[in-house]
Amino acid sequence: MPEKCQIIKTNVFASCETYNCLKRISWAIGRPDGPPQLHHYYCDDCMRDILASVPEELRPEPLYPEWHDGPMFHEPTPETEPIPEPPKSYPCKYCGEEFDSPTKIGSHTRYCEARKEAMANGET
Ligand SMILES: [Zn+2]
Ligand SMILES: [Zn+2]
Repeated sequence: MPEKCQIIKTNVFASCETYNCLKRISWAIGRPDGPPQLHHYYCDDCMRDILASVPEELRPEPLYPEWHDGPMFHEPTPETEPIPEPPKSYPCKYCGEEFDSPTKIGSHTRYCEARKEAMANGET
């Protein structure tokens, strides 16, 4: 796998390749596995100038462009399943039998043997 062309920090003692710039180089541009004499060498100042002048079309794409558009932040939260209410129960206070609606327990109470007994004993 050949290495990519890149900016490499260098300690080579040489002069900047920029016209009329005689500063000592700090940076090389080229492939690290390529012959050093084929690299381009620039001083710190010139390299900053080069980077500052990178044209729009050469600027790297943002790694996560969707972060700028924001859909990741606006993703609809998944609908949460409504928790079914536990069935209500209406226990008969006389015999303890449970019913699922007030109507049912109402009609039960009328015929509840335990209630009749309680009433006969004068407990209600
Ligand atoms: Zn320079
Ligand atoms: Zn009952």
